[in-house]
Amino acid sequence: MKILFASSEAHPLIKTGGLADVCGALPKALHDLKQDVRLVLPAYQDVLARAGQLSEVARLTLTGSVEPVRVLEGTLPGTTVPVYLIDAPQCFDRPGNPYSGPDGSDWPDNAQRFAVFCRAIVELAQDRAGLHWRPDRVHCNDWQTGLVPALLSLESPRPATIFTVHNLAYQGLFDWARFQALKLPYTWWSMHALEFHGSLSFIKGGLVFADALTTVSPTYAEEIRTPDFGCGLDGLLTQRAAQLAGILNGADYALWDPASDPLLDAHFSRRSLKGKDANKQALQRLFGLPTDARRPLFAHVGRLVEQKGIDLVLDILPELMQRPLQLVMLGSGHAVLETALRTAQARYPDRLGVRIGYDEGLAHRIEAGADLFLMPSRFEPCGLNQLYSLRYGTLPIVRHTGGLADTVVDATPASLDAGTATGFVFDAATPEALLACIDRALHLYIQRTAWTRAVKTAMAQDFSWTRSAQRYLDLYRATRPTT
Ligand code: ADP
Repeated sequence: MKILFASSEAHPLIKTGGLADVCGALPKALHDLKQDVRLVLPAYQDVLARAGQLSEVARLTLTGSVEPVRVLEGTLPGTTVPVYLIDAPQCFDRPGNPYSGPDGSDWPDNAQRFAVFCRAIVELAQDRAGLHWRPDRVHCNDWQTGLVPALLSLESPRPATIFTVHNLAYQGLFDWARFQALKLPYTWWSMHALEFHGSLSFIKGGLVFADALTTVSPTYAEEIRTPDFGCGLDGLLTQRAAQLAGILNGADYALWDPASDPLLDAHFSRRSLKGKDANKQALQRLFGLPTDARRPLFAHVGRLVEQKGIDLVLDILPELMQRPLQLVMLGSGHAVLETALRTAQARYPDRLGVRIGYDEGLAHRIEAGADLFLMPSRFEPCGLNQLYSLRYGTLPIVRHTGGLADTVVDATPASLDAGTATGFVFDAATPEALLACIDRALHLYIQRTAWTRAVKTAMAQDFSWTRSAQRYLDLYRATRPTT
């Protein structure tokens, strides 16, 4: 099957979060299943710098772009998956984050930038770029590609479209003036199309027009049809429930395996855990904490945003710091949370280590060196860090939501007896519930035999991409153009 896979991020070319991990790994897994899958991404500066050899394969004239847009072809580094880069310099040739400028606010022309990206994808999908390759399916991911299913609905014949929601909270909302400037059909300014409470919604382009919808875990697929998690789109998603599937993300064990991870100080596996101690020591040293093998080391890596429940951690910090434990945190995001963490670190220098920033290598070393991983997310579409934590024998402490609920088995007397426990799960998004859960973890930590058994069970879990990729392939096969 010929699949055009469209995303704004794909590891290792460009990454701000889990979207990149998925869009780097899933095309690779589909390729391994012998599918003709090709990735299409914006040619951001970072992407051009990392992509290796590229050749120009097409030039497009697109509505919304004053200059011709080049299509460059290369491969996803480390694979043979072809990648098309949409090179529209006025849109993508700028430094830093794909979505925001140096001051942290969104680029003012995001609507135009991603509309150009979407229009270029449509040209590839309809084989109008001169590539002599006509995909059977177009798989779009998140709001940046949301206009593709809408624009393709105007074409006939056309490939079937699949739209995956990686995080419903990011919708690509813009004002009426932008809608006009994009020269989209005026009939789309309707609650039955792209209009959402007086704004243009890119994500609705996917949710309304795609032939099939997916999201990244079965529980999140249920949750987003409720007012609490639906971000105002629960009604639409309920209407389309028959076309909405939850397919759990995988972890790319080629990159995230403690037995072979080149970024670690020492390797380890379920059969030989010794190397984990060396990673713990190295991590304690790196953060300037006392090197004590017996002190439980908690960790967090992630975007510092409300979704992730970092405020809950901050709320309990004074109590947490009275307990015999250490905590290291790596993240960047909201300035208020960054400042609060820096201040707390200065207050508890020998128990709390904080790095503000984005550091892929350090994220691997934290997964390897920590004993426990905190993910008290308010909502979590899938979550990847808990999957990495399981593989690295770092027991996750998670809230019962989204993909966290689907992947971590709470350590209860029954699950410990049965040998199925892999972490700690709590329900209410409150500081008290989080603290009580941490105390349960501390209690297990001192029971070394039970602890080691849970660690080994966690490391034995298999969330590799193969199974999920097969589910996507089944879905592609079952999906036909519906308009
Ligand atoms: P989200 O997509 O909501 O950010 P996920 O858990 O799905 O959350 O994926 C986050 C990915 O981004 C993981 O691979 C994680 O290691 C990585 N990540 C997030 N913040 C950082 C950071 N500050 N430094 C390094 N890696 C990070």
